[in-house]
Amino acid sequence: MSTVFVSTWLDAGKPCVQRAWQSYQSGSDLLTACEEGLIAVEQDPAYQAIGLGGLPNADGDQELDAGLMDGTTLKVGAVCAVRGVLPVISLARKVMDETPHVLIAGDQARRFAEQHGFEIRNLHSENSLKKFNDWRLLRREAEVAHLTHDTVTIVGREEPGHVVAACSTSGLAWKLPGRVGDSPIVGAGYYADDEAGAAGATGLGEDIWRHMLSYRAVENMRSGMNAMESCQEAVRRMIRREPRTAEHISVVFGVSNKGDWGAAASKDGFTAWVCIDGLIESHQIPGEKL
Ligand code: ASP
Repeated sequence: MSTVFVSTWLDAGKPCVQRAWQSYQSGSDLLTACEEGLIAVEQDPAYQAIGLGGLPNADGDQELDAGLMDGTTLKVGAVCAVRGVLPVISLARKVMDETPHVLIAGDQARRFAEQHGFEIRNLHSENSLKKFNDWRLLRREAEVAHLTHDTVTIVGREEPGHVVAACSTSGLAWKLPGRVGDSPIVGAGYYADDEAGAAGATGLGEDIWRHMLSYRAVENMRSGMNAMESCQEAVRRMIRREPRTAEHISVVFGVSNKGDWGAAASKDGFTAWVCIDGLIESHQIPGEKL
């Protein structure tokens, strides 16, 4: 029986689960520990996935999406297409804790941030500005074709079966301004219910959202599958229904309320970081084959 955190991608997943575990060890509740894990990555410009130094939209602005869910209360807080707010996962937390709402969008989310004393700032780093300028020059070619993106999503589980999920992203790089992906959308980018488990996603937001990968994975856990089978079934069903979804990587991962974890991807290339009672390991997740 254990406390488990699982997070996304080779570079960012490790500092995320490390910070979450430290925070949990020093007394934070499970959801706050996950929030702290994401804040650590958002604030570090070395990670171009989220927060400071995240890759911008086609106008050169970082439009951030974030959301989180508590599996006991089923409360959710999320923000989307919000510019210049750090840490944006904490803004989503404010929506959860201080409003009766689920999602606040765009400039009004920024106004909400200002009213709650958030730091409003330019989120570019040297790296994100350089990448944007390179993209402007090359435009339409390599990077558009390869859909540059990254998101950090984390799920957590503690005794006797409490689960949470949280997610923060700058979304697809060079996206159409105003585009929102799966990450702030409950059921798409994350879902948590103590009666079953928690799941989170990363990859091509349009595919993840249309196939509701996080909700499906949790519902599979509810029906009795373990976390690995639950994630695999959700991804296989997406690929079976729409084979072109295997051309780009989309991932769902999760932890059941019993503490077993799982992950599945539509193609090779995903690394999950897993922390079980403080022991942190990475796992390569092979693409699903039908
Ligand atoms: N799912 C995110 C989005 O489409 C991107 C990612 O996970 O890397 O906005």
